[in-house]
Amino acid sequence: MSITTSAREALGAFRGTLVEPADAGYDEARAVYNAMIDRRPALVARAAGADDVARVVAYARESGLPLAVRGGGHNGAGLGTVDDGIVLDLGAIRGIDVDPLARTVRVGGGCTWGEVDRATHEHGLATPSGIIGTTGVGGLTLGGGLGHLTRGYGLAIDNLISAEVVLASGERVVASRDEHPDLFWALRGGGGNFGVVTSFEFRLHEVHTIIGGPTFWPVEQGAEVLSVYREFLPAAPRELNGFFAYATVPPGDPFPPEIHLREVCGVVWCHTGDEAAAARDMQPLLDALPEPLLHGVQPMPHPVLQSAFDALYPKGDQWYWRADFVRDIPDEAVALHQQWGERLPSMKSTMHLYPIDGAAHDVAPEDTAFSYRDANWGAVYAGVDPDPANVETIGAWSRGYQEALHPYSAGGAYVNMMMEEGPDRVRASYRGNFDRLTCVKREYDPDNLFSRTQNIPPADQPC
Ligand SMILES: Cc1cc2nc3c(=O)[nH]c(=O)nc-3n(C[C@H](O)[C@H](O)[C@H](O)COP(=O)(O)OP(=O)(O)OC[C@H]3O[C@@H](n4cnc5c(N)ncnc54)[C@H](O)[C@@H]3O)c2cc1C
Repeated sequence: MSITTSAREALGAFRGTLVEPADAGYDEARAVYNAMIDRRPALVARAAGADDVARVVAYARESGLPLAVRGGGHNGAGLGTVDDGIVLDLGAIRGIDVDPLARTVRVGGGCTWGEVDRATHEHGLATPSGIIGTTGVGGLTLGGGLGHLTRGYGLAIDNLISAEVVLASGERVVASRDEHPDLFWALRGGGGNFGVVTSFEFRLHEVHTIIGGPTFWPVEQGAEVLSVYREFLPAAPRELNGFFAYATVPPGDPFPPEIHLREVCGVVWCHTGDEAAAARDMQPLLDALPEPLLHGVQPMPHPVLQSAFDALYPKGDQWYWRADFVRDIPDEAVALHQQWGERLPSMKSTMHLYPIDGAAHDVAPEDTAFSYRDANWGAVYAGVDPDPANVETIGAWSRGYQEALHPYSAGGAYVNMMMEEGPDRVRASYRGNFDRLTCVKREYDPDNLFSRTQNIPPADQPC
């Protein structure tokens, strides 16, 4: 008997779709964003709603099959899929309900950020997310959420008001400051360890047209640019966000042909004030540095900036990335960045330093599971290439870069930008919050059903 036959019996009134290996569409159903991940689940269950989610969770628990929960499928480590188990795909749970008066939005657990940004933009509102529209709301939020609005409005989790969750027991609960507060604390940074979130409620802010885009200098000037940037950004007003990058200019619009494929360093800006304020706030950095190759900063709708990288990074490339939290960037680290940043292994490979200061520092390390509130940046060393033949090359660069800079890091890494790097790395990423997380895990998922995560094991003793 196929797993689907037994699953159909066990799942009863399941309204979504079930796909197993013999079905047409299996390869599409099992594929995640990172093409390096090639796992073969026994069943992909695409849930139609929270009831379906509860049915699949119960089936996974009773059958003993491994369970992977998939939001947007973007996780670099491929946590949204699993060999020989069940993928619970939330991709059909995509309702978006904006309340412009209350300035809140309710978002289905399978939404991607691009659609949420467009829906809230209609009302002149936005909530902090990331820098790419195709990323899932689920995974990005549960890990923390770093993006263009971090300095002004905090991490994605700092704007989470409540979450509807299907627990490992199958029970459906709401987590908020008032209901299941321990669960709500753990969801804000603890990843998918505690349950399946079928609906997120976020606070919105008045963000409509932003002043954004890149400023690029030749890669050879990277050390000089980074030395100025590391002092400039933490002192800049919160309206100004700007992540530092080593990258290659893509060969197409909107970039002028003379800089196509040029290796560069630079800053990608997002200012939530008007043009004059943006120019004023960026000027000290520009004054301190040589004339850039490109200062492509202009007014644009917030969702345009949010999806500006979507075409460059479609589903199906090979991704290998490493990460670290960073408090300071001493001269020795600047020199190492320059050595590695000048050796990008492919056109799409890049290093980003995402700001985590400003409003993200208004929250104490113990207030949410996301512990590194004293970090100023999240560094990601992303090896990316469409050609599977280059997997070794991009992986070696990413690992080498991170290992070289790790001694200058704050210790742990942003869990959403890690590969599967072992329990010590996960523990280091939660620092003082780790033990409390294991206690919450013991309460809500004592058998570690949600183990396809940057895994927090249940405490082995009552807490
Ligand atoms: C191109 C690209 C750009 C990115 N940019 C950013 C960025 O700007 N800022 C940033 O912070 N991160 C960024 N990320 C990292 C991103 O946050 C993580 O990859 C995240 O895991 C993606 O979430 P997802 O839902 O798409 O992933 P999935 O692979 O579907 O899931 C990842 C993990 O989250 C869990 N999960 C997902 N949804 C739910 C849910 N509803 N309930 C319970 N568990 C769930 C899964 O079980 C799994 O463990 C980026 C990733 C990529 C590939």
